[in-house]
This record gives sequence, structure tokens and C-alpha cells, in this order.
Amino acid sequence: MSESLLDLDLDRAEPVLLRYAGAGPRYTSYPTAPVWSEHYGPEQLREDLGRLGPRDPLSLYVHVPFCKSLCHFCACNRVITRDAALPARFLDDVEREIAAARAALPEPGPVIQHHWGGGTPTHLSPLAVRRLFGAVCEGFPLAKGAEVSIEVDPRVTTPEHVEALRECGFERISLGVQDFDPRVQAAIHRVQSVEETADLVARARDAGFASVSFDLIYGLPFQTLESMARTLDSVLAIGPDRIALYAYAHVTWVAKQQRGFERHDLPEPKLRLRLQLEAFRRILRSGYVHVGMDHFARPEDELARALRDRTLRRNFMGYTTHAGLDLLGFGPSAISELTGAYAQSVREPDAWGEAVRERGLATLRGHRLSRDDQERRFAIGEIMCHGELRAADWKARFASDFATRFAAELRALDALERDGLVSVAADGSVRVSTLGRLVVRNVAMVFDAYLEGQQAAPKPLFSQTV
Ligand code: SF4
Repeated sequence: MSESLLDLDLDRAEPVLLRYAGAGPRYTSYPTAPVWSEHYGPEQLREDLGRLGPRDPLSLYVHVPFCKSLCHFCACNRVITRDAALPARFLDDVEREIAAARAALPEPGPVIQHHWGGGTPTHLSPLAVRRLFGAVCEGFPLAKGAEVSIEVDPRVTTPEHVEALRECGFERISLGVQDFDPRVQAAIHRVQSVEETADLVARARDAGFASVSFDLIYGLPFQTLESMARTLDSVLAIGPDRIALYAYAHVTWVAKQQRGFERHDLPEPKLRLRLQLEAFRRILRSGYVHVGMDHFARPEDELARALRDRTLRRNFMGYTTHAGLDLLGFGPSAISELTGAYAQSVREPDAWGEAVRERGLATLRGHRLSRDDQERRFAIGEIMCHGELRAADWKARFASDFATRFAAELRALDALERDGLVSVAADGSVRVSTLGRLVVRNVAMVFDAYLEGQQAAPKPLFSQTV
């Protein structure tokens, strides 16, 4: 993939890719969240937790929703506050939620992945970080060698935070960067210098963090090819182990403050695509591997290894290692992904806290997967993670003929094959091309049974695929 994307003729590729511009899911789950129902609540989650096996390894996610100021591009679930009382109450409530999940799952397996996201987890004081980590690990003990990771905002992360995080056992740190250009930073209301970012990386490496990753965004107001190249030069000079280069999602129905971006300040579709393609190539030329969609990693990084070993997995955290773990989410809006079911907690932090105090678990909605869902989830997962859906793998897993099962979908792939996005073998096996991996969501969309109804919905549900 890496070499061939570098060889791609961009002038020929762009018109093809632009034809696929449209709204589509990011497939961090299948079925996607709009399908989930409020008939699934705390009782259903308790039942599903009770069904997990005692030795099944677990992945944990903790959502810390607080931030000091609002970045205007942001569509995350967060609360802007400087009020110290809110985090204190949050800690009490998340401890209650952990206790409730623990009671539903009498013999939890070992935790081999433990991740905090937000919001800004380092909005919590170092003392609060220690308390929260202790509470989660008391309920769900870490396995030896577990992967422990956190997302941080360099603007609020102090040397004392770095010390507390390492003491707890965090070993992977992900920094929000987005863009270093001053004009872009002013427009998105997030001013963060190269120096403070590089300082935090140096401190983290000195403290023993094994892996550093950066989150960047293309498609922001005022970005140009030149400004993006300068940002990437600074990023590559610091040299994170992983880079996630996300597409800016203009989803004003979720993030109302994005309406403040004037339409003409945002790059038009052709420039937006060129920003992406040039940035991808710059990252690849620096020796990173394209893991999938928007993720890059150094060749020796576990994510790149997982890609090579076919153990790469996609969940709410994006691309991750360790396929097939049950994931338990804590905090407002957190998602749990269990064998055969998804559950999401109440989004709004006050309402989430009330629900936890009343019922222990704050489940707002969820979904139990039918056989059809499970088959399609497998197909979509193979395409999103491996760029390949092999008929033999299908047969081994579901004991049926792939080409017969998905005859209609394979016919729908004809048009994508003519455009050079996929190739389909005689037994129906699908391979996504280098060009196709740039619009891999569109390939996966062919296997989504719910999409037609969602696209006809009166309100938009998804961001743009290109
Ligand atoms: S981008 Fe991060 S720091 Fe900024 S508002 Fe969103 S969650 Fe908070």
C-alpha cells in the first residue's frame, strides 16, 4: 500500500475519488449507532455482562468529558468548565458505575487494554488521575503487560501529570495537535505552539512512555497545501510513533459552534482531497505505514504489526490491536461493545450522573446483533481493517458460500470495480485497491443493510466520506 499510494497519479485519481463524495459511516461499529434502540437499557446490559466468560480478556475505556475551552471544530462529547466541583462529582459517579458493572460481571477476565479519552483526561488533577485509575483497576484488575493509554491536551498537561500517569502505568500517550498554522489555530480557537507540543513529547519519552501518537485534522478553515506541509514538517521533526490524520467532520447538527465557520473559509472539496492526498504522501515518504483510513504508524509499531498479522481491529477508539476483545465503557456517552451487543451510556454528563446514582448503569440505548448483523459486521470489518474479504475466511467462519450469500452486494460492487476501487475474484473474494483504500468507507457501505433507510432520513446522520 505505502509504495503504491506514492505512485498514484493524483490528477487521474482525484475525479474518481470526488465521485464518491457523500455522507457515510466511519464504521467504528456495525450496525452504526443510529440503528441502536432505547429499548436496550441497563437491564439488558446487565444480562449481556452476565454472559461474559470468566476468562474472557477485556478492554476498558473511560470517557473524561471535561475541557478548559472549546475548540470550534470539535464534535466530541465534552463539557467546557473550570469548576473543580464537576470533576469531583464525576469521580464519585464513575466509581458507582464501575461497581455496578463489576456486580453484573461476577468473574471479570484480565484487562489487556485500558484507555482514557475525552474531552481531556488531563483536565483532572494529578491527584484525581491517581484516584480514578485506582478505582478502575480495583474493579477490573490489569493483566501483566496490559496496554495502557491516554489522550491528552498539551495545553493543560503538566510535568506533574506526566509523573502521575507513569506512576499509574500509562505507557502510551496520544496528543491532540490538529494543526500548527497560526491562522488555522485562531480560526479553530485552539492555540498550541510547536514548542509546548515538542516539550511534552520530550517529557513523556524521558518519563518512559513507550509510544507517542498525534491527532491531526485536514479540511480545517484556512488550511492550504503550504500550511499543511509546514505543519507536517514540524510533526515529522518531532517524530511520533503513530499519526492519525482525521478528516474534519462538518456536522453542524451535532456541533452547533461549527456554524461559525464561514463556508468560504473551509477548503472546497477538491482542495480538501488534495490536502489529504499530499499529507498522506508526505507521511508515507517519512517511513510510516498506512494502517487504514486515517491511521499511520512506524513499521515496528504494534499497529503496523497488527496490520501485517491480520489482528487489526476497529472500534470506537479507531484502529486498535487485539481483535475480538469485549470492551466496557465508563463515563458519559461511553460505548460498550460486547460479544453480540453494543450499549451506550447517556451523553450529557449531569444526566449521566443522575442515571448512575439511580440505576448504577446509565445505559441510554443499545443493540443486540442478529445473525445478519454479525455476518455483515464481519464483512465490513475485513474491508475496513484488511482491505480484503476472502471467501475462504467467510466459509470457515459462517459455513456458507460467500458469493451466494452476498450476490446482490457483489453486483453492486461492479461499478466500484470499473472505477478501479476493488477487484472481485471468481469465488467472490473482494480486494480493495490502493485507490479504493482512500474511499474504503464507500466500499464497506455496499455491505450495510441499514444505510438506504438512514440516507433517506430527514436529518443528516454521517460525515462526508471524501
Ligand atoms: S478537541 Fe479535545 S480539547 Fe478541544 S474541545 Fe474537543 S475534546 Fe476538548
